[in-house]
Amino acid sequence: MEQKVCFYHADRTATAVCTNCGAPICGECTCTCNDNKICPSCYETVIKQNISDFTRLRNSYIVYVLVALAFYVVGWIVFLQGSLGLFLIGILLMGIPNVYRFFNRGRGILATFRGGVWIILLEIIFGIVATPILIIVNLNRLVKAAGGLSYSKKQLADCMQNYPFLN
Ligand SMILES: [Zn+2]
Ligand SMILES: [Zn+2]
Repeated sequence: MEQKVCFYHADRTATAVCTNCGAPICGECTCTCNDNKICPSCYETVIKQNISDFTRLRNSYIVYVLVALAFYVVGWIVFLQGSLGLFLIGILLMGIPNVYRFFNRGRGILATFRGGVWIILLEIIFGIVATPILIIVNLNRLVKAAGGLSYSKKQLADCMQNYPFLN
């Protein structure tokens, strides 16, 4: 069988083939991604995709937490004004981020309606309890996404250092 040389090092024998693009790669060029052996170039693409995914996720959690917090705080302020009308509007405001969650998940408001309008009413009424829980849940997701992002950025820096020919 013909000996193949590494796609990135003409003086080295390939010991594996990139499962993504099929390039022959030497031991030093073999990167691992989800138990697959891939080449440095495909590895770089995967890391960059992860960075963009984590950035998008992190930003969506930041928006959710800030918007939900604003609705919740304003809702409480209105709620405590002492009239029945404002009491109800306050409850509504506190519950709105809870309903917004369905948009955020991409399920769409129609999916919510198919589950019954009463679900939306429950979502709004229990927003007073559910919204702070959702804020905490999304804060936790935000921390994880930020952690994933900084890990991926470190991976990219290491990758660029290990494989300078990618630049
Ligand atoms: Zn490849
Ligand atoms: Zn190589």
